[in-house]
Amino acid sequence: MPANSGNGSLQGKTLYIPRMSVEGAAVMAACYRAIGVNGQMVPESDPTTLDLGRQYTIGEECYPEIVTLGGFLKIVEDPKFNPDETAFLMPTAGGPCRFGQYRDLFQKILKDRGLEQVMVLAPTSANGYNEIGGNPGEFIRLAWWGLVCADALRRLLLQTRPYEKVSGDTDRVHAECLDSLCGVVEKTDIPLKEKFDLLKSTMVEIRDKYTTIETDYTRTKPLIGIVGEIYCRLDDFTNGQLIRVVEKLGGEAWLAGIAEWVFYVNFMQRFDMRLEGQRFSKSMLGAVIKDKIQARDEHLLLHSLKERFIGYEETSQIKDLLDLASPYLPYSGSLGEMVLNVGGALYFYQKGADGIIDISPFTCMNGIVSEAVYPRVSRDHEGVPIRNFYFDGTESDLERDVDIFLELATTYRRSKMKQRKYPPHFN
Ligand code: SF4
Repeated sequence: MPANSGNGSLQGKTLYIPRMSVEGAAVMAACYRAIGVNGQMVPESDPTTLDLGRQYTIGEECYPEIVTLGGFLKIVEDPKFNPDETAFLMPTAGGPCRFGQYRDLFQKILKDRGLEQVMVLAPTSANGYNEIGGNPGEFIRLAWWGLVCADALRRLLLQTRPYEKVSGDTDRVHAECLDSLCGVVEKTDIPLKEKFDLLKSTMVEIRDKYTTIETDYTRTKPLIGIVGEIYCRLDDFTNGQLIRVVEKLGGEAWLAGIAEWVFYVNFMQRFDMRLEGQRFSKSMLGAVIKDKIQARDEHLLLHSLKERFIGYEETSQIKDLLDLASPYLPYSGSLGEMVLNVGGALYFYQKGADGIIDISPFTCMNGIVSEAVYPRVSRDHEGVPIRNFYFDGTESDLERDVDIFLELATTYRRSKMKQRKYPPHFN
C-alpha cells in the first residue's frame, strides 16, 4: 500500500485526527489549520464507534484499532459526509507491532465501499512529508511545540483535579486553556519565531489560570504512575476512564506523556545508525541536532512551569528510562513500548509514586511482556505495587479492581523508603 491514498491534495479538505489524547489531537488539528488545512479531531467515541469498528474486524485486531476505525467510520456514515472534501490521518510504522496494519485495513474498507478517492494521510519522512505542503520542517517543529505544551497541560490537569474544591472546575479551566493553546498554534499571521515566544507566554498564562482553581492540598493522595500502550493509556474512552476512577477512589494519577515516545524514536534512530556503521555520518549529525533542538525547545517552553512541576519532573534524557529498564528488558534487544513501560514504572518508583498501573489493550504484546517482568521489578524495589489493566471494550468491574489496587498502594505508602518531593503549592 502507498503511504498515502486517495485523490488530490489536502488543501480544501477536512482532515480528521484520531483522539490519542484530547490535548494531543486538538493541537495536532490546530497545526494543520496553521497551514490552511481544516484539521479536526475525530468526534468523541461512544458505543456506536465500537459497533462500527467491530463490523469490520474479526477479534484479532488491537482494541485501539477498533476504536480508531470505528471513529473514522462514524464520519463516513454521516449523511453529510463528502468523500472529496474529507481526509483521515493515520500514521503507520514497520515492525511486528500491529499498528502498521491500521492504515492498510482502513484503506481496504474504503476501497470495498467504493470510496477509494478518500485521502488517508500517512505522513512519513520517506516522502519528504510532501503531502503537507508549504514548509514541512516548520510544520514538524510547530507540531513538536504543540505536543510538548499539550503534555504539560495534561500534567497540570491531573495534578490539580484530585484536589479541586468544586467538582468540574479543573475540567472547565483545562478546556479553556486548551482552546487558548490551540488558538496560538493555529495562527497564520505570525512567523514561527514569534509563535514560539507567544507559546511561551501562553504557558505562563495557563500556569496562572490554574492557580485560580480553588484547591485543597492539605491532605496528599496516593500517587499512581500510569504507563502502558500509548493510545490506550491516553484515550479515556479506550481505557474505561481509568484515571477518573483512580481520582474518584481517592488517588492521584501521573500519566506518561507523548513526548517520551518522540525522544525514544530519536534515540533508537541513532542507535540503529551506529549499528549500521554511520556513527560519523551526516545523517547522524542531523539526528543529534534534531534531538538537541527538541530538548531545548521543550525546556524553554516549559520553563515557567518548573516550580509547579517540582517532584513531577519528566526526563528528556530518554536514556535514563532505558537504563532503568535495562536489567529487565535491555533496549538493544527489546523494542518499543515494553521498554518504556518498565523504565517508566521504575522512574515513577524513584519519584516516590505509591503504585504503578500499566494500561494495555487485551492481547497487546507490550503489556504481556511487561507483565511478565513486573513481579521481579516489584520484588527488587520494596514491593512497589504494579498491576496491568487490560481493555477490550467489554464490561468489567473497574472500580472494584482499582479500589483493591489503591488499598495496596496505601499500604505500601505507609512503609516505603522512596519519599516524594512536593511542589510549593502543597505547603
Ligand atoms: S502496541 Fe499493542 S495495541 Fe498498540 S498497536 Fe501495537 S500491538 Fe496493537
